[in-house]
Amino acid sequence: SAPVVTIDGPGGAGKGTIARAIAESLGWHLLDSGAIYRLLALASLQRGVEPTQTATLETLARGLDIDFPTRGPHAGEVLLDGEVVSGAIRSEACGVRASELAADPAVRTALLDRQRGFQKPPGLVADGRDMGTVVFPDAAVKIYLTATAEERARRRHKQLMEQGVSANLADLLQDMQARDERDMNRAVAPLKPAEDAMVIDSTTMAIEAVIARVLAQVGN
Ligand code: C5P
Repeated sequence: SAPVVTIDGPGGAGKGTIARAIAESLGWHLLDSGAIYRLLALASLQRGVEPTQTATLETLARGLDIDFPTRGPHAGEVLLDGEVVSGAIRSEACGVRASELAADPAVRTALLDRQRGFQKPPGLVADGRDMGTVVFPDAAVKIYLTATAEERARRRHKQLMEQGVSANLADLLQDMQARDERDMNRAVAPLKPAEDAMVIDSTTMAIEAVIARVLAQVGN
């Protein structure tokens, strides 16, 4: 089957940026698995489904109408029920709800096949929390990308400011630590490096240096 590169780690470590650059450089497909959890979060918020309604969430997860078009008028956007929601799923509220839903084993199982469906020739770069540990355990290259919580909060703050979104650095740091805590301590698929993952601490590294190190690992 098609080769996979997994990039896991906590929020704000730069996984998305790195994964996109690697996928572009290799000409491979890209899976932003966090976006899938965020889409489920948005759908649940829109429909008033609470995090405790496991059975309803499971059905919602299996039937979720989502799309990541790579061509056409919506290329690069994220669609839910045919509507562009690329901005909406990036809200802090969606991130928090996503992390709550992600702690439910039934939800995670319901999303497994959908994520594995992205593994297609010539290859896939997948980023998230459990890509190397659970979803693609046989991946040829596994990266665990991290950075200090302070640096990750600073990066998220900069990103939000560039998007014209005002945010408070201290609040971001607190949210990020709460989310990390939940992601690392949940019973199912907790955030941790796969045994065979290469750990990269990007706290003091330039993005280009991280990309170069991952590409070297892939053998390109
Ligand atoms: O990476 P992102 O911040 O978009 O992910 C949102 C949330 O979705 C994470 O905090 C995490 O709880 C959950 N998630 C997950 N497994 C993944 C990707 C994301 O549990 N593979």
